[in-house]
Amino acid sequence: MTSAITAEREAELLAKVPTGLFINGEWRASSSGKTFDVEDPATGKVLLSIADGTSEDAMAALDAADAVQASWARTAPRERAEILRRAFDLVTERAEDFALLMTLEMGKPLAEARGEVTYGAEFLRWFSEETVRDYGRYLTTPEGKNKILVQRKPVGPCLLITPWNFPLAMATRKIAPAIAAGCTMVIKPAKFTPLTTQLFVATLIEAGVPAGVVNVVSSSSASSISGPIMKDSRLRKVSFTGSTAVGKRLISDAANNVLRTSMELGGNAPFLVFEDADLDKAVEGAMAAKMRNMGEACTAANRFLVHESVAEEFTAKFAAAMGALNTGRGTETETNVGPLIDSGARADVHALVEAAVAQGATVATGGAAVEGDGYFYAPTVLSNVPNDADILLSEIFGPVAPVTTFSSEEQAIKLANASEYGLASYVYTRDYARMFRVAEQIEFGMVGFNAGVISNAAAPFGGVKQSGLGREGGAEGIAEYTTTQYIGIADP
Ligand code: NAD
Repeated sequence: MTSAITAEREAELLAKVPTGLFINGEWRASSSGKTFDVEDPATGKVLLSIADGTSEDAMAALDAADAVQASWARTAPRERAEILRRAFDLVTERAEDFALLMTLEMGKPLAEARGEVTYGAEFLRWFSEETVRDYGRYLTTPEGKNKILVQRKPVGPCLLITPWNFPLAMATRKIAPAIAAGCTMVIKPAKFTPLTTQLFVATLIEAGVPAGVVNVVSSSSASSISGPIMKDSRLRKVSFTGSTAVGKRLISDAANNVLRTSMELGGNAPFLVFEDADLDKAVEGAMAAKMRNMGEACTAANRFLVHESVAEEFTAKFAAAMGALNTGRGTETETNVGPLIDSGARADVHALVEAAVAQGATVATGGAAVEGDGYFYAPTVLSNVPNDADILLSEIFGPVAPVTTFSSEEQAIKLANASEYGLASYVYTRDYARMFRVAEQIEFGMVGFNAGVISNAAAPFGGVKQSGLGREGGAEGIAEYTTTQYIGIADP
């Protein structure tokens, strides 16, 4: 394998990453003086040690956010828009730094990390444009007397908690609309991948965000940050992306102060291939929907439901494409598949594969961990998976594709909906009437038709059922950070 990146380049980039907490416009050490290590999952080596925030630091961050909320809410929308636009320009100029940093701390191949920079930066541009179009309305009452004025106001200080799988995009998808709406915030990045957020916040400061508006408290103990802040009535909203289990706990904590919540939780995406689908395009879409981010995506196709008449051909082509992928460190030019985030994640993925095989599935390719350093797992296709196998009910979060079959459209929809999750789904067919029939009946917040990747800053991203509450991106994204105020005006 050849590496496109030298050790000097890695060291030079890591030297640019601030290692403190960012509170009230200043980088500072943790109140405990402690730090925690951030590792490269491809090698297990420590990249950097950063300040380990405490409950006391979390409260200092909330104090700072609260102190400037009123003045920040009064800034001109154009001013906030221009800060976001400058941030977009800076992130785009420094795309190679952000991409490499994500590859180092998260493991994804550099080409994918570059794609995430483009996607993540787009939230900054999209919301810079939305900032000046956050309309209210004005109307006469139905009785013809008096007027109704409806305006939107920032919800107030927010707690933003992000996962490790898309370190830049999950941060910008929350921070950009919060800035656009005029909210202040405390950000708690995932402990595996805080470095990208640290560097991004340094960039936001250069773009002109005033002190106190954006605060970052990285920590090895998430609940010691969220716990005390969520008990404080000055906090007005929590926006969380992560697992359904943690999301449920936060929804329950949010009840105390009746906090606004946005919850982007787990998924278990079905990938339906009908008998009339273009099978080559379906395999191409399956590769993208399954293998983006090594399968560590909430939108990852998790259950391949294929019409019985084309299942054999689809599985053979899919297994050949999966078997041809190269696993390796994301900085190496030949790598298509990076490591999983840690040894526990890899063990969980393998346990699901073993259970599926015990329940009757056949390994068409892969099926085992890759020997050596790092947490690599071979791209895997399982065929003949029984419809009631455990692997079809769990979020796999790894490069494993179970294939099962259906015999009618009705059965396909029933199997697709047989999940507690309802985030992304994918449907391959040439029949546009079927496309609308399926969309009507499928219980998912997002449907990709003949498309394996559907995330876009201009689209409302989010789920139904246990996949969450609220939407991020699109026109809906800014509404999550505003409240509605109605003013009744008597006619003179
Ligand atoms: P996670 O729930 O373990 O962690 C997410 C974040 O919550 C991290 O910052 C973590 O430190 C923090 N956290 C953990 N325990 C907490 C607690 N008790 N109180 C407060 N915060 C806590 O999830 P993860 O492993 O980082 O991410 C993977 C999960 O995220 C998957 O289930 C995936 O589907 C989901 N996800 C969803 C979306 C979406 O948009 N719906 C996007 C990406 C990931």
